Amino acid sequence: MAIRNILHDDDPLLLKKSRPVTEFNERLHTLLDDMRETLLQANGVGLAAPQVGVLRRVVLVVDTNRKDENGEELPPEEAMIELINPEIVAASGEQVGPEGCLSIPGVYGIVKRPDLVKVRAFDRYGKPFEAWGTGLTARAFCHEIDHLNGVLFTSLAEKILTPEELEEMYGGGDEEEEEEA
Ligand code: ZN
Repeated sequence: MAIRNILHDDDPLLLKKSRPVTEFNERLHTLLDDMRETLLQANGVGLAAPQVGVLRRVVLVVDTNRKDENGEELPPEEAMIELINPEIVAASGEQVGPEGCLSIPGVYGIVKRPDLVKVRAFDRYGKPFEAWGTGLTARAFCHEIDHLNGVLFTSLAEKILTPEELEEMYGGGDEEEEEEA
């Protein structure tokens, strides 16, 4: 496994549409393993393949709704979902809140998203499955799937937060509290 370089917003690859995965082979597994390590190191809630320069429809999302048998939040490495060729099949409700991106470090904007999102995708072996998320997980599903279509959150944001507003919202820019995908 290797940590891959995360592209930043001036990179034209981030504005391109990714192609579907057709072969669920070793190469895909290496990409997924590398993305997993890259996301853990970056401490984000999601990562899309185009963010590491691969224009394929592959994303990782940390499902913060997932709990262990005692109702405790799982560590990110256990809560991570791999989604190949993901599609949103249902969405409901609405949430309006701050959103960030590992490809646009330090920038946060207010983005409206559905509050509950159901996705259909394939796992790394080509087996179809469905997943759903609420709150931050729903936001991450939308954000990552947007990446596959070359859409960055800054183009959807109602407002980009100023450093002062950011500080107010996150209480002095505590890195732990900020969520980037
Ligand atoms: Zn992002």
